[in-house]
Formats: sequence, structure tokens, C-alpha cells
Amino acid sequence: MTATAGRLTLETPVTYLKGVGPRRAELLNRLNIFTARDLLFHIPHRYEDASTVQQIARLRVGDDATVIGTVISKGILPTRKGLRVFQAVVQDATGLIEVSWPGQPWLDRSINKDDVLLLSGPVRFFHGRQLAPREFVNLGKDADGTSGGRVLAVYPATEGLSFKQIRGLIDAHLDQLLPQVEEYLPPWMLQEAKVPSLREALAAVHRPTSLASALAGRARLAFEELLFVHILHRRARQIAQQARDGITFVNKKDLTSKFREALPFQLTKAQVRSVREIVADMCAPHKMHRLLQGDVGAGKTVVAVFAALLAMENGYQVAFMAPTELLAEQHARTLDRLLAPLGIVPVLITGSRSAKERKLAATRLESGEPLIAVGTHALVADGTTFAKLGLAIIDEQHRFGVDQRRVLIEARGAKVKPDVLLMSATPIPRSLALTMYGDLGVSVLDERPPGREPVTTALRPESAREKVFAFVNRQIDAGRQAYVVYPLVEDSEKVALKAATSAFEELTAGALHGRRVALLHGKMGADEKDAVMRAFRDGSLDVLVATTVIEVGIDVPNATVMLIEHPERFGLSQLHQMRGRVGRGAGLESFCVLLGDVGEEAMGRLQVFLDSEDGFEIAREDLRLRGMGDLFGERQSGVPTFRVADPLKDEALSEVARGVAERVLVEDPELKKPAYKAMQGILRRGYGRALELFRVG
Ligand code: ADP
Ligand code: MG
Repeated sequence: MTATAGRLTLETPVTYLKGVGPRRAELLNRLNIFTARDLLFHIPHRYEDASTVQQIARLRVGDDATVIGTVISKGILPTRKGLRVFQAVVQDATGLIEVSWPGQPWLDRSINKDDVLLLSGPVRFFHGRQLAPREFVNLGKDADGTSGGRVLAVYPATEGLSFKQIRGLIDAHLDQLLPQVEEYLPPWMLQEAKVPSLREALAAVHRPTSLASALAGRARLAFEELLFVHILHRRARQIAQQARDGITFVNKKDLTSKFREALPFQLTKAQVRSVREIVADMCAPHKMHRLLQGDVGAGKTVVAVFAALLAMENGYQVAFMAPTELLAEQHARTLDRLLAPLGIVPVLITGSRSAKERKLAATRLESGEPLIAVGTHALVADGTTFAKLGLAIIDEQHRFGVDQRRVLIEARGAKVKPDVLLMSATPIPRSLALTMYGDLGVSVLDERPPGREPVTTALRPESAREKVFAFVNRQIDAGRQAYVVYPLVEDSEKVALKAATSAFEELTAGALHGRRVALLHGKMGADEKDAVMRAFRDGSLDVLVATTVIEVGIDVPNATVMLIEHPERFGLSQLHQMRGRVGRGAGLESFCVLLGDVGEEAMGRLQVFLDSEDGFEIAREDLRLRGMGDLFGERQSGVPTFRVADPLKDEALSEVARGVAERVLVEDPELKKPAYKAMQGILRRGYGRALELFRVG
């Protein structure tokens, strides 16, 4: 059945569209396109125009290139590993290049000689230059792809339905659909964000007359997404604050003032600011839910102690949870030292404490006396019950599963819910954190305490291996200690272990002969790991050869060398975390050496790490390169996903959206005014969470 042109509405199922049969409908469904509206809102994820296309002759290995060329030959090559590779040679006015699609022999059927292809992807070296397309478009036979000014919309597609077919489909229905689109954002918002109206925007993204107009249209759609997410965050926060279901702490300045006076150093401005924000949040009647983020060594622990003492002077208990035993013990030691002047001894709760110790701790927790308990997830294990938990501090929060955090946060059986302070050493830009977490308060330590030494960072090729180890030996002779780190290969601790083990054997027999060297890896038992770390900390080892288990937290001021093998296999933020392990002893010069021959592509990436010691800058670059998956992976459920917006690239737009969201909700918290009614409807339809946050009426 086909619908007559007059009856086509935004709600028409795609099956009824001209040019869509059952097979195609199925493919469209796979792209989440079920109605004409969905098709209209299927937005190009990229544009190509003559200005982005490069000349083939000028491509260099390592480039990420976009070219347009004509297929002059093609074929399928079998490889020794049994993989079949489709290859084509394409040519433009300046030259030719080989293009290779490993494992995609079926392309031989759709790509023909004389077809014009638009290709983009990295240029590699493989018997000469070779392009490895991430994406490509077949513009068809003898297409004039290079004609100036033409902007090409590239749509998300699926196997069996090319983006060209999608573009044809959209183009065929656009004129009928566009007039039915109504704007639902009030004009002042569009002005604030400097974006066109919805109808104009959709016209511009689907039929761009220039790249600039296409991007302006895209900005309208991205703005809407960001706005809605900020509205949801903001509204959730409003409701939480109205609920007043948290503890209202009183700033008695009893323990906290004593602590400040006893501190052997001055707080940094950032620490003072963060403490102030946390105290204000805890003293408000709502439940605190705050993220404290700061680079390694920025001094988060001290800030957390202020929060803990505020809870304790109000008669509450504090849980301080760390992801590993080692870290928990280190925190316990740090707290022990920091709190000694106040006569407070933290309670340590980990899986490896003796039954007797745990029993003793359990009794204290159940008594309800004010205390601070430091531990691993053993803190949330059955049998651990806080009678009066007032504050939960979670270090390296992203290392915990959502469930583990929830157990602590919801404080089984407790009458009141504790305030929550999350800490993270993987700093993400503040505006990004606000976009992603929104209803969290965010405090940022963006200042380094004095006494942290800059770390000299260098990349050395394989050929300098001997020299590098000679240097390590000189440091050991001078009484210092060193880390040598191997990456996890293919996420397999087993393979990494093999690499680290054989390297360990090689090193002890060769470059580090006669030195006290130990191996540390994730497969070791907690006791064993602990013994090794302790030995290293106490100076009875010179070198620690490790897989990435030392990435977080451990503090050995006498260690001055961080030697990292296969640096290209680490993310930039990971490298930065590891570098943070050295430079912790005042007055000692420290070094981070990346050792290995890395490719050009990796080189470009590592440069940022080599040039900067600013964790925020590095995290930003890491995010840009690797996307947000690593930081906001599956474990971080509850974090919004975006179709059009990119919270990192659209940072400025997100800021505008946040301001607008704030303004709207102050004016009309339930979005009931006529001006916001339509917007509320769209919000409720598109975002499940909106249903509980905004009632109809
Ligand atoms: P983070 O947890 O953010 O990595 P820590 O809280 O472990 O950092 O602090 C790192 C080191 O810096 C600790 O030894 C701590 O005592 C010290 N420190 C913290 N704040 C200051 C400060 N304001 N001035 C000097 N040293 C500080
Ligand atoms: Mg820390």
C-alpha cells in the first residue's frame, strides 16, 4: 500500500513511503528509523566539500585524509592469514593511491572501474602509500565529485542501505515533510544560542548550500539535545533540593579548625575553594552529591578529610572507599598521619584483615560512634553495617561499578541517606562534567600544591635502550628507585604478564643485573602484591617491574624514574597517571621515559603528553582522540548519550544551553507556561526520565 502524497505526515510509517519496500523498511528500522519523522531527523554525521578534499599527490603517511578519485583498477587479494582484502587504485588529477579494505571482499560487487569514490581515512605505509578508508562514498560512474562548492551530506548508513540511498530517500520526501515541522523552542532561546529555527535547520542539514549553513543547522539540533539534558539535570537537582532528605550538617568548626591549624602546609586556593563548596553543600538540607576532581597529587585527600571531620563533629560516621587494598591502606596511613594531631585513628576495613580485626571494626561501626572507616568494597560487604553513616567518600569513583557505589550511597537500613563525595583523578573539563553528570556538584582542584617537582618527560627509540638503562642504573647508584611498566596487551593480563615476566628475567640477567628487582602484576594475590609494594616503599627494592597495576595511587617519594615500555599502547590519561607516581619527593628531580619505536600516528598523540603536565589538557586531548567511551563507558550508566551533539566539541554551545536551562527552570520549574508547553511535550516524548520530572497538566 502506498500513501498518497497529500496524506504523508510526520507519523507515517516508513513502510508507506515511496521507494521503501519491506526489505528497505527493515534496514531503516535497524537505523532506528520507523516513521517519516525519524527519517527527517536522521542527520548527516559529516559533510564533505571541495575545501576538505586533498590532492592525492600530496598525501603523506600519517595523514588523515579525504580524497576524491576515480577507480582505475580493482580486485580481491587473498592474504596469508586467509583474510580477503578488496583493493582499488584511485586517481585524481594529481596522482594515484592504493586503497585497501581488509576483510570486505563483497565490495568488489558494488565498486566498479570508473566509479568516483570519496574516501576518508588514515594514510599508511604498506608497499608505498596506502589509504585505509574509515568511510567512503561511491559517487557513481563519472561523477563530477570535485566540482567546486558542492557540499556532500554523509549519513549514518548500514550494510545493504548506503548513505546515498538514504540521501535519495530523504530528498524525495523533504519538501512534503518540512512544512509540517513546527518550532517548539521559544525564539529567545534560538537567539541566545544563535541558531536557526528547526525548519530552517533541517533544510540546511539535508540540503546544504554551504558547509557553514549545514553546520549552523546542525548546531540547532545539537543545542536542543544539550538543552534538554541540562533541563533534566537541573530539574532533577531542583527536586532533590526540595526533598530536603539529606543531613543538615552544622559547621561547628571544631575538628575542622583544629585540623587546619595542625596542617604542616597551607591549603592551595583551589583546596580552600573546594572545601568551602563542600561545606556549604553538606550544611544544606539536601543530600550532597558532589564530584571532587583534580590531577594526581592535587591534594584531594586533604579536602576529603575536611568533609570527613565536618561529618564527625556532627556525630556521624564516615566511609572512605578506595578501589584496591593497597590504596585503602595508603589512605589509612595518610589519614593516620594527618589526623594524629586530633587523636583520631581511622578504622581500616579490607578483605584481608583478620577475622578478629574485622569483628572489632564491625562492633565500632555498629556502636554508631563518630569515626572514619577506610576500606575497599569490603566496606559495603554483608556484615558491615554503619549505624550512623553521614558521609560516603568514594575515591577513583569510576573504578567502581554503579552497583557498588549505590550500596554505599543508599546505606542499607539507614534512616537518613549519607552525603556523597566522589573523587576522580582523571580530570575532565568542568563544563563536560556538568553536561555529563549535571545533577552532581563539581569541585575542581586545578592547582598543584607547592613541592611537587616537574617531571622531565622524554620519548626514546629502541636503539637507545642501553643508554636508557644506563641512566636508570645511575639513578639507582644515587640511591633512587625506578618503575618499569608494561602495558596490558589486548586487555589480557595473561599476555601482559608473560611480557612482563620475560622482560623481568631479561632485565635481571642483563641491564639490571645485581639490582634488587621485583615483579608486580595483577594476577598476584593481595598479600603477595602488598609484600612487594611494601618492600619497594621501604626501599628494599631498587626497581619495580609492573603491569599497569601501579597506575593509581601508590606513593613512593624516593622513586624518580618511570620507564614505560610500549607507550603507544596506553591512553594519554593513563600515561599521565603513571607519570604522577614520580616527582613526589620534594627536591628530587624525576623522569618519565617512554621507550620504544612508535609509529607516526602514535607519535602525534604522544606529543601532547610529552609537552604537557596539565592533566586537564591531557584528558581533553585523550577525549578528543579516543572519544568518550573510555570515560563514560557502560559502567557509567545514567550518563546521557547524544545523537547529534558532541559535549566536548560543542562545549561552548553546552554552556549556552546550561544557562538557558537554568533561566527557564527558575522562571517556570514545571514548564507549564504556554511558551514552554510545546517544548515540554517534546521533552517528555524523547526522554524517558522527563516523565517523572515533569508532570502533565
Ligand atoms: P591526590 O589524592 O589528589 O592525588 P593527595 O591528596 O594524595 O593528592 O596529595 C598529594 C600529596 O600532596 C600528599 O603528600 C599531601 O600531603 C600533599 N599536599 C596536599 N595538599 C598540599 C598543600 N596545600 N601543600 C603542600 N602539600 C600538599
Ligand atoms: Mg589520591
